[in-house]
Amino acid sequence: MSEVHDIKIRRFFECLIPVTVCNLKCSYCYVIQRDYRNMKLADFKYSLDTIQAALVKERLGGICFFSICGAGETLAQPETLEIVHRLLENGHVVNITTNGTLKKKFEVLKNFSNEELSRIHFSFSYHYAELLRLDLLNSFFENVKLVHELGCSFVVQLNLCDEYMPYLEDIKRTCLENVGALPQIAATRDESSGLGKVKLMTTLSQDEYIRVGNSFNSELFKYTMENLNVKRNEFCYAGERSAQLNLATGLMSRCYNDPTPVDIFKNPNEAIRFEAMGKFCRSSYCFNSSHFMSLGVIDNGDSRTYCSLRDRQEADWFNPTMRQALSHRLAETNPPYSKEKIRELNVRRFFERNYYNAKGYSRIFAKTILKKIGIYEKIKRISSKNRNY
Ligand code: SF4
Repeated sequence: MSEVHDIKIRRFFECLIPVTVCNLKCSYCYVIQRDYRNMKLADFKYSLDTIQAALVKERLGGICFFSICGAGETLAQPETLEIVHRLLENGHVVNITTNGTLKKKFEVLKNFSNEELSRIHFSFSYHYAELLRLDLLNSFFENVKLVHELGCSFVVQLNLCDEYMPYLEDIKRTCLENVGALPQIAATRDESSGLGKVKLMTTLSQDEYIRVGNSFNSELFKYTMENLNVKRNEFCYAGERSAQLNLATGLMSRCYNDPTPVDIFKNPNEAIRFEAMGKFCRSSYCFNSSHFMSLGVIDNGDSRTYCSLRDRQEADWFNPTMRQALSHRLAETNPPYSKEKIRELNVRRFFERNYYNAKGYSRIFAKTILKKIGIYEKIKRISSKNRNY
């Protein structure tokens, strides 16, 4: 068993690598639903040395938790594991979300030290139908078992949707046989429902969907469903305790819909200004509550943690180091703001929100005009062709 390191995480970074290459083609894939899948590797604007220098503990205020996800398969990008290694060298903790099928990439982990491996967590997306179609089910579980043997932590999670209803018993049995527990469950969104209230990708009633999800005894599922479509009106410390970071461009945002991202790789020696979103979250609900809220961006008395939503303790999915590190909440390392600061920030955010809302409305107005004169679709096609996610 690996030695337990007493890690206190200062900040959480949700990181995107804008690679859209993927060897699977899941019916519910958000990238396919949004029509962004152009099978391109990401272009990195900065060198790995610059990225590493920009993300040192001293600049970020302490050890941080980086969760890295591609727009396609995260490990399809050749630089991903090198970036992970640089972050580990900097002393951070890293999650990698993956479809778990690129065997050679997992073999590379054998070159990492045991101590570094103990600070890696894998989120394995269990894309059962595609794994069956491509005859990759055994290889998927071999890779999960390999990272476990190497000392990494992991979760296996299934996107619950109608496609899987005929296979539920097989899905449960296979996971239980291979990794000692049932998969955790992620609720699957129907992206065609737009930006308003999010619909689930199912023809089942919500009660029936919840009943099926609950048969997996998944804390992750319960938490996600509780928070689905719940507009957050509390003071949110996203921006202070957490951020979103595009690793290819260096652009850091306080959270979703932050209209003022900042390039933090451009001048790696320059101090970063961390400041909370406050009471004016611009999202209709907290899209990734199982990361942000479970890590503690909102002080609402909920004691569930990132680890408690994912670990299957009976099968030791988390190693002792990660169990310790991800069982804390970020308020422990980031005390609440003073009343004065909260008041001042909320006033500023109020005006900021109204300013950017007004800008958004003028964009909608322009779109309506372009549609009326018949050139909107053409412009959209050209810009989506050139889009690098
Ligand atoms: S409530 Fe969620 S989506 Fe809104 S600002 Fe906070 S972390 Fe971001």
